[in-house]
Amino acid sequence: MIIDCHGHYTTAPAELESWRDRQLAGIADGNRTLPSPAPKITDDQLRETIEKGQLRMQQERGSDLTIFSPRAAGMAHHVGNAKTSEDWSRVCNDLIYRVSELFPKNFIGVAQLPQSPGVDPRNCIPELERCVNELGFVGVNLNPDPSGGYWKEPPLTNKWWYPLYEKLVELNVPAMVHVSNSCNPCFHATGAHYINGDTTAFMQFIQGDLFKDFPTLKFIIPHGGGAAPYHWGRYRGLAQMLKKPLLQEHLLNNVYFDTCVYHMPGMELLAKVVPVDNILFASEMIGAVQGIDPETGHQYDDTKRYVDQLPLSDADKAKIYEGNARKVYGPLDAQLKKRGLI
Ligand SMILES: [Zn+2]
Repeated sequence: MIIDCHGHYTTAPAELESWRDRQLAGIADGNRTLPSPAPKITDDQLRETIEKGQLRMQQERGSDLTIFSPRAAGMAHHVGNAKTSEDWSRVCNDLIYRVSELFPKNFIGVAQLPQSPGVDPRNCIPELERCVNELGFVGVNLNPDPSGGYWKEPPLTNKWWYPLYEKLVELNVPAMVHVSNSCNPCFHATGAHYINGDTTAFMQFIQGDLFKDFPTLKFIIPHGGGAAPYHWGRYRGLAQMLKKPLLQEHLLNNVYFDTCVYHMPGMELLAKVVPVDNILFASEMIGAVQGIDPETGHQYDDTKRYVDQLPLSDADKAKIYEGNARKVYGPLDAQLKKRGLI
């Protein structure tokens, strides 16, 4: 089985965005025009967007199951307040759940959390529990910067985040560290803010001692780990200067990288630098970088083509494609069994 651990519902019906527009208009006019509890979207509409979009691409490219979450840029935690985020997260997560019910063999949910700048992350726990316990989700996207490019929260290793981590550990679900849109004009969202977020999280983990307190907590750093693999020597050296253990012992029982790297040399570097046990297959399709690479004639985000070409054994590729995801996403095996996939 080929599990893509990083996909977003970027093709959701337009009713979702118009619900969001009404919600934000309600904030602007003092909540006088609150939208209905949920956008009116039929199962047929969901089927159509998925069948023409992510499902078609799964089939064309040869992957089987996508670990699927709401559109990352759409989370926009910096907008409104905690209640705004709570309502919006619920609406987005419910749509992911419906997709995972309509296509149980192809999509499984990961939750958007109702984060809000400066708000204690304990506020995310009820939605996290609902998504895992009631909707069968297997992970969450955790935004290290709900301010949208201004980095106002404490580092991910700060005790500020601990109540949320305690719940993630209890539920045995990992968090993908995933920023949302940038409202700082210095940072292009997917070109700079995403990669900055990934790199920043990795360095925060080096500086802290988070995994002494949470030895089973697991994070996936997306987009190939940002700049971390390319600058692995810098990070190993900094860990040494900070009197931290070697990265293997300090982080690599807890931190994983996905394969959302959109060219072969980058993928080769990732696989050369990061142990194969810490790499999870992902494409983030249909996502940030769409289009055909004129050098290859294929879509940039068709990452399976690159992984297939890596000089690794079949056993190692099986870890990247399936085994590591089943290890990292605690409830995944139970969900795969329930869906008749294993
Ligand atoms: Zn993403």
